[in-house]
Amino acid sequence: MGKVTGFLEVDRQDRRYAPAGDRIRHYREFVIPLSEETTRSQASRCMNCGIPFCHTGCPVNNQIPDWNDLVYQGNWEEASQNLHSTNNFPEFTGRVCPAPCEASCTLNIEDTPVTIKTIECAIVDRAWSHGWIKPMASSRRTGRSVAIVGSGPAGLAAAQQLARAGHDVHVYEKHAKAGGLLRYGIPDFKMEKNLIDRRIRQMEAEGVVFHYNSHIGVTTPVDELIAAHDAVLLSGGAEQPRDLPIPGRELDGIHFAMDFLPQQNRRVSNEPVGSNEPILAGGKHVVVIGGGDTGSDCIGTSVRQGAVSVTQLEIMPRPPEKENKALSWPLWPLKLRTSSSHEEGAERDFAVLTTGFTGTGGKVRKLSCVRVDAKMQPIPGTEFELKADLVLLAMGFVNPVYEGLLESLGVTLDPRKNVAANQTDYRTSVDKVYAAGDMRRGQSLVVWAIREGRQAAHAIDKDLMGTTTLPR
Ligand SMILES: Cc1cc2nc3c(=O)[nH]c(=O)nc-3n(C[C@H](O)[C@H](O)[C@H](O)COP(=O)(O)OP(=O)(O)OC[C@H]3O[C@@H](n4cnc5c(N)ncnc54)[C@H](O)[C@@H]3O)c2cc1C
Ligand code: SF4
Repeated sequence: MGKVTGFLEVDRQDRRYAPAGDRIRHYREFVIPLSEETTRSQASRCMNCGIPFCHTGCPVNNQIPDWNDLVYQGNWEEASQNLHSTNNFPEFTGRVCPAPCEASCTLNIEDTPVTIKTIECAIVDRAWSHGWIKPMASSRRTGRSVAIVGSGPAGLAAAQQLARAGHDVHVYEKHAKAGGLLRYGIPDFKMEKNLIDRRIRQMEAEGVVFHYNSHIGVTTPVDELIAAHDAVLLSGGAEQPRDLPIPGRELDGIHFAMDFLPQQNRRVSNEPVGSNEPILAGGKHVVVIGGGDTGSDCIGTSVRQGAVSVTQLEIMPRPPEKENKALSWPLWPLKLRTSSSHEEGAERDFAVLTTGFTGTGGKVRKLSCVRVDAKMQPIPGTEFELKADLVLLAMGFVNPVYEGLLESLGVTLDPRKNVAANQTDYRTSVDKVYAAGDMRRGQSLVVWAIREGRQAAHAIDKDLMGTTTLPR
């Protein structure tokens, strides 16, 4: 702790956004970084707490007070080494993590947590721009090989760890490029895709081999992988979306969010959009059903495509503007969260149940809705209709897709229909086969996927070699 009185002297200051009117004209990132001087003074606010709640609030247990101090001292290169010792991809989390560390920070009791996520992002962006992040190819070869199914953050983190331990690592991905939801779900305006390409180049230089357009269990039998490798890690995500089986669901113009968002990401990257008809919000009244991250990304994308109006419906009641700290801190609080996309011009409505869709000529035109009480029961007399030419279903993901990979493996599922495996050895019910990320824990966050990928790599290395030096 370089500056003992930092938290008393320096006010919290965070990154700002470019004005909404400007940023909705493009799909690029719009967060304005703090200057070096301001970032260092923000880092000086860290109190190096005796019990650093931030450290346990962070799923990858980033050593936050240590690198806050290094940044304050101006020792950015060592801060980057420290940060990378717990997180393979801080440039991803520094952009899209909801930052549970900041919710846990002791200064959050006063609503002024250390700007941890901003400092993390500054460290890693600086490290890349100064050329400090280089491939770390292992000098030893174990002669063991590991197949990883799925190249989302869980698969990528596991692959990097295992390659650095000296194993031959092969990543199999059904899409044309790596990244999972980082590439095809999260829009470019939250995270530009050149950041993933740069990491993939680093990983290739470390020996990881990527096999694209390789749909395991569909185009390539999973048995081939099991026969050819010493271990197989399943990190295929939780891709089965929650549906809304109500009257009119079959009308044109009602789509899952993950049919809509990947198309726009592909357009931005000049990738073919695929065989599905183009889904575009331009000139339409858009209704997004579901109030989470995915719904928010649908809003930002619809606004950029030129929607006439965007309305987001959430079945849960409107959360409080401010949490009760005495009850919630240092845990993640339930409170109203307003994303940058919300600020770009969406209407939000809470405690609303959609009961049906109606249309003309086979196309959706209206939603029938009703308000619900605290027990989510319809309140008689509160029925209303909403105009809609495009409806995006963003109600989360129920579990991994079973057909194909999991079905042919016959792997045991847990009661939520995710792949059953614990967080110590990550072994599934099938010999040599492990599972991590959303495929094991269900729909979650990038930072949890990175944690699980790292821990699964530790478990696999230990099983293959009898011992491991990979951190958990
Ligand atoms: C629209 C959207 C926005 C989100 N925004 C955020 C956010 O802002 N912050 C945040 O922290 N989290 C966010 N999330 C959640 C986060 O993206 C996921 O929790 C995380 O990506 C899960 O990582 P994963 O590696 O387990 O799986 P995924 O990222 O889903 O990757 C799985 C990969 O496996 C591949 N695959 C699946 N089956 C096979 C197969 N049989 N053969 C070959 N390849 C296969 C898939 O193509 C995919 O590339 C968002 C999710 C969505 C949908
Ligand atoms: S909880 Fe906040 S103030 Fe305390 S060590 Fe962590 S970042 Fe610093």
